[in-house]
Amino acid sequence: SDHDLTYPESPEAMDWSLHYPAFANTSKGNDTTESDTAQNGQSTQSRMTQQVEIADIGCGYGGLLFALSPRFPNTLILGLEIRTAVTEYVQEKIKALRGQQSSSTSSTTPGDEQVAPPSTAPAAAPTYTNISCLRANTMKFLPNFFRRAQLAAIFLCFPDPHFKARKHKARIVSAGLVSEYAFVLRPGGKVYTITDVADLHAWMVEHLEAHASFERVGEAEVEGDECVEVMRRETEEGKKVERNGGSKFVAVFRRLEDPEWP
Ligand code: SAM
Repeated sequence: SDHDLTYPESPEAMDWSLHYPAFANTSKGNDTTESDTAQNGQSTQSRMTQQVEIADIGCGYGGLLFALSPRFPNTLILGLEIRTAVTEYVQEKIKALRGQQSSSTSSTTPGDEQVAPPSTAPAAAPTYTNISCLRANTMKFLPNFFRRAQLAAIFLCFPDPHFKARKHKARIVSAGLVSEYAFVLRPGGKVYTITDVADLHAWMVEHLEAHASFERVGEAEVEGDECVEVMRRETEEGKKVERNGGSKFVAVFRRLEDPEWP
């Protein structure tokens, strides 16, 4: 049950600086706008230099997060996972990797290009400061975390298949949930899906194609997208399917512009 899940009342109430301290806004300006101010009177969004833009829904042990982190070092990436122990595992791993980096490199702030890395560390050493994981039931609370049009990408990697027809309502793709994905994605943003279950692939394609806010991305663009390769190779499930010689079905969908009202 979800009774022990904590989630913000609204995206404005979410304090992301705890998740991404390296991206917290340290300048002490008085530029807090009313919409930046949470109900408890504290500024939250304005504490950040940027917002979360990539969400990995049902991130499991975080393979995708750790692989995406160095590829998009200036983009905030969030894994959402419903299982407590798995969420804690990912959080601890991120903490440990960040610790390794801060003890081997000088502390640099994003955008601090004039600070040269010490010669012992490779210039592009991943810092893992841009990834985090939190416990959430994304079927219920997604719009509590993200504003309208906030995200550039949503990953749905190897979602639980829920094979039996009476369990289909537990799938993380449904007409209602696709509307939520459309709400939090910006026009041009993408939903990435991958599964080894042919029936679930067909289900996800059917629901996303049926939604007026999405179009399916063509094969050439999909194959040229480095995120697709990461999703195939770096997720824990992707590796398992690879070992077992199974199939991986991929589909990507683009969030369309909303039509203009006459
Ligand atoms: N994405 C990972 C991968 O590709 O290796 C994990 C895939 S695993 C089969 C599905 C994950 O989704 C599990 O870790 C499960 O706990 C999580 N999950 C299922 N329903 C969820 C929900 N409503 N909200 C958040 N996570 C969920």
